[in-house]
Parts: sequence; C-alpha cells; structure tokens
Amino acid sequence: MKNEILQKLPGVRENVLLADYTTYKIGGHAKYFFVAKKKEDLMAALKIAKDFKMPVFILGGGSNLLISDDGFAGLVIKIDIFGVDFQGEKVIVGAGSNLTKLAYLSAEKGFSGLEWSAGVPGTVGGAIYGNAQAFGVKISDILETVEAINCKTLKMKNFAKEQCQFSLKNSIFKKNKSLVIVSAVLKFEKLGEEQVKSKIKEFLEYRKTRHPVEFPSAGSVFVNPVRNGLPKTIADALAVRISNGVNPEKIEVIPAGYLIQQCGLAGKRIGNAQVSEKHANFIINLGGAKAKDVLSLIKLAKKEVEKKFNIKLEPEVQFVGFK
Ligand SMILES: Cc1cc2nc3c(=O)[nH]c(=O)nc-3n(C[C@H](O)[C@H](O)[C@H](O)COP(=O)(O)OP(=O)(O)OC[C@H]3O[C@@H](n4cnc5c(N)ncnc54)[C@H](O)[C@@H]3O)c2cc1C
Repeated sequence: MKNEILQKLPGVRENVLLADYTTYKIGGHAKYFFVAKKKEDLMAALKIAKDFKMPVFILGGGSNLLISDDGFAGLVIKIDIFGVDFQGEKVIVGAGSNLTKLAYLSAEKGFSGLEWSAGVPGTVGGAIYGNAQAFGVKISDILETVEAINCKTLKMKNFAKEQCQFSLKNSIFKKNKSLVIVSAVLKFEKLGEEQVKSKIKEFLEYRKTRHPVEFPSAGSVFVNPVRNGLPKTIADALAVRISNGVNPEKIEVIPAGYLIQQCGLAGKRIGNAQVSEKHANFIINLGGAKAKDVLSLIKLAKKEVEKKFNIKLEPEVQFVGFK
C-alpha cells in the first residue's frame, strides 16, 4: 500500500513533523503529508485517500489547532491554493491565501471588510471554516460564495452565503468535515486607502498590547460564551464589570478570558504550557510544550469555569489526532 501511495501521489511525503506547520509549534508526525497547490492536486490526493480508505486532515495555516504529540495516522493535505483575483469590489481568492496578506492587498485598493484580520496568521479556508472574527466583524459579513469539494463524492459545489450556515465561530464546513474549501468570493466596501490602513494599524496595536503575540499560541482557546445563554445575573454582573462605560445591553458575549482569570488561572503553568497572564483565553507555548500539557490546561480551565460560573466553555481550537 505504501509504495502504491508514493507512486500514485507524486510529491507526497512520509513521516512529516506537524509542529513545523502549526503556530503552536506543537504536534507529532503525519504518516503522509501532501501540499495541494491547485484544485487538481487536491482532487488527486482526496481520491487516493478515498481509494485507500485513509483518514484525511485538511491543514490551512495551522493557527487554530492543537495536534496530538502522537501526530496523525493518515494523510494531511496542506491547502496552498493561492490566487487573488480582484474584480471590481469583489475578490476571488484561493482557500490557502493568507488572511493578513489579503487584508493588506485590499487596503491598497481602499477596500474595507478585512481590517480585523490583519495579524491573524490563518488562511481564508480556515477562517471560513470557523467563521473567524474580531472587533465585531466576521468573515461571513463579506462572504458571497464558497467553492468546496466533497471528499466522499469528490464532487465540487458552490455554496451561496445562506447555504454556509454561519453562526458564532461555526459554519457548515465545521459541521460537515467532508467539505474542503477551495476558493471563495468576498465583497468589500469602498472606504479609501488611508482610512482602511489606519483601522488596520489601530487593530494591530490592540493585538500587540492585549495579546501574547510574543509566544507561540493558537489564538483564543475558547469561544466567548453568548451572553443570552447565560444565567442573567452572571451575564449582567460581568457585563457591567467589563464594559467600562459601554451599555451592557450591547454586550453580546462574555469574554472567556475574563471567566478564566476570575478562576485564578492566569499564569497557571503545566509543563511548558501556560495560561497567558496577558490574556487568559490564550494558552502559550513557553518553549517545547507538549500537546498533553496544553490539553491539561484546557481541561482545567473548562472545569474551574463550570464550577465557579456554571458556564460550559466550548473550545475554539480544533483537536487533531487525539484518541
Ligand atoms: C496570534 C493569533 C491570533 C488570532 N486571532 C484570531 C482572531 O482575531 N479571530 C479569529 O477568529 N481567530 C483568530 N486566531 C485563530 C486562527 O488564526 C483563525 O481561526 C484562522 O482563521 C484559522 O485558519 P487556519 O488556516 O490557520 O486554519 P487551521 O488552523 O489550519 O485549521 C483550522 C480548522 O479549519 C479547517 N480548515 C482549514 N482550511 C480548510 C479548508 N480549505 N477547507 C476545509 N477546512 C479547512 C481545518 O481542517 C481545521 O479543522 C488567531 C490565532 C493566532 C495564533
């Protein structure tokens, strides 16, 4: 089987260290690793996986992942399908395109809609999968259509925005793991280069001062719980505390970092993984951290927040290769 795979999928590599492909710098080896640079490569790799009944994991920028120390016993397909084609105020963009780069390219044209994503080290595909967002703006706000392959049927399909089932940090692509995003059409608003660039600068400054960008991480570990679903007394008390003058009625989510901090966990360390003191919804790699250490901190934070606030935190980070 091994020789057949190597022969039928030119470019596939064996035993590749996944830590090198994640922003956490954590993760064991992939049994097979393949980089898809175009749609045809992706189709070929998915066909091989289907024929050999091999588990597949789709990798974007690796910036929202915790990969097991044991790695992944199947085929990892890294989506390097780039291509950025501006057509009027729209852009047709490959799923592997880097969000930050796209934010700058659109800013050059004076297009607004992706300012929030400058500094996010992920791809367009990964952002659509998890409906990435920041500063009150989501990728779904500017999305028109998504082109995806179903890895079970190997058929292509175009999804209109309404078919993507977007909600808080969620989409049809997260719910149905058979769908692999190939490209998307985004539509911007014309605002002017200076204005867009100044918003990007402001957001980057915020990230630099509030987030532990100096350490490897996977961004926010937990989704911020929706305020409406929380016991009203807790939600109101927290909203008033954190709002600093903002109308509490306008606060839709409660920061998970605030809840974790209130449990006294900021700075908590297991092995070389640590709950960031700067932002408690980040777990950082101090150097050589193991996936099992990060996982222990995730479990601890979840347990303590539930005990103190009766709130079940949902991980935003995606887990790969854990049994
Ligand atoms: C410093 C830092 C800051 C961050 N800031 C933010 C932020 O402000 N807002 C935010 O929402 N997130 C943020 N993140 C998290 C992360 O960058 C985003 O969620 C990003 O969109 C993930 O994209 P990715 O390409 O890295 O996906 P990956 O981490 O590679 O994958 C995440 C999931 O998406 C799936 N996936 C990836 N590509 C495809 C595809 N083409 N088709 C189908 N499935 C796919 C993978 O299988 C996996 O399940 C941050 C992370 C870091 C490290």
